[in-house]
Amino acid sequence: MFSQAILEELRQSILKKVHPDSGVTDIEFEGPEIAIYSNNPKILIDYKENVKELAKKIRKRLVIRSDPSVRIPIDEAKKIISDLCPEKAGVTTIDFDENLGEVIIEAKKPGLVIGKNGSTLREITKNILWRPNVIRTPPLTSKMVSGIRDVLRKGTVKRKKILKNVGARIHRRLFQPNQQNFYIRMITFGGFREVGRSSFLIQTKESNVLLDCGINIGGNYNIFPQLDLPEFDIQELDAVIISHSHLDHHGFLPFLFKYGYRGPVYCTTATRNIMTLLQLDYLDVAKREGKFLPYDQKDVKKMVLHTIPLEYGEVTDIAPDVRLTLHNAGHILGSSIIHLHINDGMYNLAYTGDFKFTKTRLLEPAHFNFPRLETLIIESTYGGSTDAMPSRREAEKQLVTGINRTLNRGGKVLIPVLAVGRAQELIITLEEFMRRGILKETPVYIDGLISEATAIHTTHPEDLSNELRDMIFHQGHNPFLSEFFQQVDTSDSRINIIEGEPCVILATSGMLNGGPSLEYLKMLAEDPRNYLLFVSYQIEGTLGRRIQKGWRDIPMREANGRSRVVHIKMEIAINEGFSGHSSRQQLLEFIRKVRPKPERVITCHGEEAKCLSLASAIHKIIRAETRAPLNMEILRLR
Ligand SMILES: [Zn+2]
Ligand SMILES: [Zn+2]
Repeated sequence: MFSQAILEELRQSILKKVHPDSGVTDIEFEGPEIAIYSNNPKILIDYKENVKELAKKIRKRLVIRSDPSVRIPIDEAKKIISDLCPEKAGVTTIDFDENLGEVIIEAKKPGLVIGKNGSTLREITKNILWRPNVIRTPPLTSKMVSGIRDVLRKGTVKRKKILKNVGARIHRRLFQPNQQNFYIRMITFGGFREVGRSSFLIQTKESNVLLDCGINIGGNYNIFPQLDLPEFDIQELDAVIISHSHLDHHGFLPFLFKYGYRGPVYCTTATRNIMTLLQLDYLDVAKREGKFLPYDQKDVKKMVLHTIPLEYGEVTDIAPDVRLTLHNAGHILGSSIIHLHINDGMYNLAYTGDFKFTKTRLLEPAHFNFPRLETLIIESTYGGSTDAMPSRREAEKQLVTGINRTLNRGGKVLIPVLAVGRAQELIITLEEFMRRGILKETPVYIDGLISEATAIHTTHPEDLSNELRDMIFHQGHNPFLSEFFQQVDTSDSRINIIEGEPCVILATSGMLNGGPSLEYLKMLAEDPRNYLLFVSYQIEGTLGRRIQKGWRDIPMREANGRSRVVHIKMEIAINEGFSGHSSRQQLLEFIRKVRPKPERVITCHGEEAKCLSLASAIHKIIRAETRAPLNMEILRLR
């Protein structure tokens, strides 16, 4: 009820601040934004300037939408758009959202739809009175992205209601910074002194925000975060924020929806798209293997409808006393460092999620400059004192010599990879080396979800590294489309590959705990000419980890259900130089550079010894209070 009064107050103050003939017909909450409906076309045409000016006045994020009564009928509007866009723009889709009064125009050359200084776009807006949103047609179509758009299109009425409720909850009381009764607690549910099932709660007097909600993909026990603690009350949860799309950070999220959570999930658009893909795949694999399913597809769909995508650097109110900003983490596409500004900035914390503090071919390095910072929560995957990661140059040299040696002796190379991250980094690297003749030209087979994940990468060019973006858009060379790579779809083609010529195979899962990579391993393991190359972190409990520890006789189940011991005779190598995580050196470099200097640093996402070792190393460098909490601890931050 109270939020109604706040909305009314906001309405009055907006009406006072806008020009009398701006034609405002309605003002509504729309998630963390305020939507202003207007029947005056002028306000839509100079959209950017108007929004900027108003947002400054009311200190809220807002969108301006045309009143449904003035919008030109869809068929007519479609024709107007087609007529106004030059043929060369290559418009591929025109998609209307009646609830929001928006139209998505997908074109091969979006610049031509926008026109010089936005002239064409202004002309379109003026004639249709829908708000156009122009995006580039990706060179590869992602079934997942189309699927998600479809869910959103069909659920548009529901979505509007959801966003209204979210807005009402954020504005449940008018914010007044609380000087006296101000506290912040952090409750750890998973991913502390371990890798997997990352999740923790930030609790203030006013609100509860959950950061990450992952599963442990390696384990047979302790798979899910400890959400059964009394401190976790699903009814009181204001928001969930997901750092990035690896399952150890979001695999348990749809479970919250199964048990009644109906609040928002904040993350980048790329994270939303990839996490949906990986959750659905997780369900498929678990079902095939007869494992327990903590949730089903319906819950994933609910999650999609409740997800509010944010861009890097966008400051957003997510609770009366909490503001959220996501920053690039450099780990995988869409990965974020989460910054929370609490109680009018009296307390600020940043959670790195998984991050890479150096440039990769795929992404720019992690952000390290924050307006304010009291507590930093930092990952420790490679935080151990003996964790050395080869330099990029050494890593590439090792990759090239290993592959060339194997191909020369007539062997095949198997590289297990997670669908997202290292796979794309390797695709770009292999493509470049083959093109330049450094690597022997040979077919590279891509198996599992990698191709779908790669297609999602081409949907988000804005998040890729500057060089890669430049290569794709200005030099017209897209390594993801190279003919060196061949997608594998059936198990028959897998057998053909094994019986065929020397080759390189990139396959999921990345830790050999199921999926096509395990199928290939069974067929390749006993030939010493073959080569198994690990390029990513292997979680405790996975087959990959066991092989790294020296296990060579592995009982494996055959297609006929019988078990057979496979003796691994193929050459095995570990090359962590392509890792999406920061090395110990990079972690400490981040600590030296991060601004402002935090008062307290908390380590997480690493084996016990690494979390402890990193915490003590950080203490020596910046003399901040450091902690390496266990799961299920309550820390008072303030
Ligand atoms: Zn990750
Ligand atoms: Zn992780």
